[in-house]
Parts: sequence; structure tokens; C-alpha cells
Amino acid sequence: MKELDGRLKFTQEETLVEVRDLKKWYPVQTTFLDKVFSSQRQFIRAVDGVSFDIHRGEVFGLAGESGSGKTTTGRAVLRLTEPTAGTVRFNGIDLRSLDPDTLREMRRWMQVIFQDPMASLNPRMSLGESISQGLKIHFPERTSDHREITFEMMRMVGLTPAEFYYSKFPHQISGGQRQRVVIARALVTRPDLILADEPIAMADVSVRVLLLDLMKELKDELDLTYLFITHDLATARHICDRIGIMYLGRIVEIGELKEVYTHPLHPYTRALLAAVPVPDPHERRNEPMPEGEIPNPINPPSGCRFHPRCLIAQEICSKAEPLERELKPGHFVACHFAEDYL
Ligand code: SF4
Repeated sequence: MKELDGRLKFTQEETLVEVRDLKKWYPVQTTFLDKVFSSQRQFIRAVDGVSFDIHRGEVFGLAGESGSGKTTTGRAVLRLTEPTAGTVRFNGIDLRSLDPDTLREMRRWMQVIFQDPMASLNPRMSLGESISQGLKIHFPERTSDHREITFEMMRMVGLTPAEFYYSKFPHQISGGQRQRVVIARALVTRPDLILADEPIAMADVSVRVLLLDLMKELKDELDLTYLFITHDLATARHICDRIGIMYLGRIVEIGELKEVYTHPLHPYTRALLAAVPVPDPHERRNEPMPEGEIPNPINPPSGCRFHPRCLIAQEICSKAEPLERELKPGHFVACHFAEDYL
């Protein structure tokens, strides 16, 4: 593939992304009477103190139920939404310290694959125009190469013959092909990091594994690193190297995927994994799913946020917040009684 150079230069850090105590709070819209009678502003604490590293070349997954804060975390990491607090370092550079122009330039290295390809593609743009958008923004001086680079990218994602698909429009192709277009559009600037937010959730079941395999191949071929967001632990098992399990704006367990899946230490992770379908119908699942839904993030429960739903909660759980502890090398968990599962 044609090499693309950039104006910004930085060293190749082994830890590509370093996130520390990241928060994203949204102010709650209040009525005039609420303002008069209440002195305290209320916030939806979508992300409430999240820390993790993403190593160069790995697929790091963030998983959890809807409302756990995983998508907001991904967006805050890339500054697609402005974090309320915390730091995010990309290749050692503090993203929150960058001015808008430099951040725009940095986007060449940090691209996104959104969940809904139909919504993220402009229906009036041909597929070729959509895919080459990033080239126009980041490499305006290389206009003569744009078409060739776009063709090459289309071939890499399986949109062949590229010349045929280049002038098609989103409504003229299948859902699986649209997702390939979105992948090509994200990769065409040769980024380092891809935020993949539920990238196969809208695709037909029959093509989901094909798309995941394609993403894995492209990762190896183009030296990519993925931040992979999913609600589905079966999907995460197919692609992730390490995983963080989120609950109500916090990471409750984090580690190598194989280790977390075979020896889950947090009751929430254990329950989520017990709900993943297995091929053998006789395989017994002893872990019941927690009852109820994720509580309101405006007033999260005291102590351990999971305690109202936790089947093994004890008195201390509603009083003291469990700290994240490394119970095995690289395997961290935030639960007072995690040792019971060691
Ligand atoms: Fe359950 Fe207590 Fe552990 Fe929270 S700290 S997950 S409530 S046992």
C-alpha cells in the first residue's frame, strides 16, 4: 500500500493509550422550581473514574450491559466527547492538552468504526467519495494518489471489483458491504488506533464472523490497535486479547481475556459469562443472572455499585467501595470478596 506520511511526529510508545481516572458527567436538565428549591446540581455520571492501558498491537475490549458507560468511555478517550476529568495519553501525548487544530491532525491516527453504517454514511456520497474523505482532510497535497489509495483500501476490505463499487451509493449495497465501507473509511488514513463501537451489531448474523475475521486480518496487516466496545461477551471472545468489564461507569474487572473468561473473579462478570450461549446444551450454568436493571447513574448506590443486584452482597458492600486489586498478575478486580473465587 502507498505510504502516507504526516506532519505530526511522535515516538512509538509500547503503551499506545493510557487512560487515568477518566470521568464524563452530563448535567441534568432541571426545571426552574428545582433550581429554586435545590442548591445542588445533579449529574449523570456516565463514566466515573475509569483507568486502563491499551498496548500497541492488541485488541482491548470494553464490555458490559447497556448503560454501563462503555461507549461514552470510548468517545471520551478519543475526545469525540469532552471528558469532565482525568487524563488520556496517546503515544505519550496528553490529548486533553491539544488545541482543536492539533487534535484534528491527530485524528489521522485515531479513527472510529461506528455501529450503524447506514447512519454514519452520507447517502448522497458515492462509496469511493466516503472512503476517501479522510485523505482529502489529512493529505490534501496528495490528491492525485487518492483514487489509487481508495481502490487499494476497498480491495483490502473485500469490496471488489473496487472500480465497480467506487461509484455505488450506500442504499445500493448490502448491510455487510456497508460495514466494509465503514471499515475502509476508518483505515484509509493508516491510523494506529481504531475505536470499534459495536462494529458488527447491525450486521446480519451470517456475516458477523466474517467481519470479525476481516478486522483481525487487517489489524495484523496494518499494525493496528483496537479499542473494541461490545455488549456481547461471545463477540469479545472472538477478537479481544484483554478485556475490561464495566458496570455503572466503572471498570469492575480487567485482565487477559482468557484469564478473565476462565477464572472470573467479580460476581457481575461471572453472571455475564454464565449468560453467554454455549454449543453444548448439557453444559450446566450455576451462576444466576443478577435481578433488575442497572441503577440510575445520577445517584449511584453507596459502597459497591453492584450491591443492590449482587447475590453474595454482605453488610460491608453497601458501606465501603471496593478498591481495584491485582489478585493475579495482570488480573484486577474491584470486589470485597473476590478471593472467594480464587
Ligand atoms: Fe457483590 Fe460485595 Fe463484591 Fe460488590 S463488593 S460485587 S456487592 S460481593
